[in-house]
Amino acid sequence: MTEANVEPVKLDQTAVGRLSRIDSLQNQSMAQNLQERERIKLAHIEGALRRLEDASYGLCVTCDAEIPFGRLYAMPESPTCAGCGGTA
Ligand SMILES: [Zn+2]
Repeated sequence: MTEANVEPVKLDQTAVGRLSRIDSLQNQSMAQNLQERERIKLAHIEGALRRLEDASYGLCVTCDAEIPFGRLYAMPESPTCAGCGGTA
């Protein structure tokens, strides 16, 4: 859904000038950051689905501790406990 926003910046011929160019670059960089976050989250979700299948879901992939329910509730795709993964 954000793919379309990450194309090379096109210069808008009807809005020539530094400000509109800087604006375009900022919008592009925001779209890229968003896309990168979505990519990471998708990878986490896919990992969570795999762990559901092999029954290791809910355990931290780093230290094997149980991930507290509150953390899973807020971030069901979280692969790690708060100690290992921060907010990732
Ligand atoms: Zn951990």
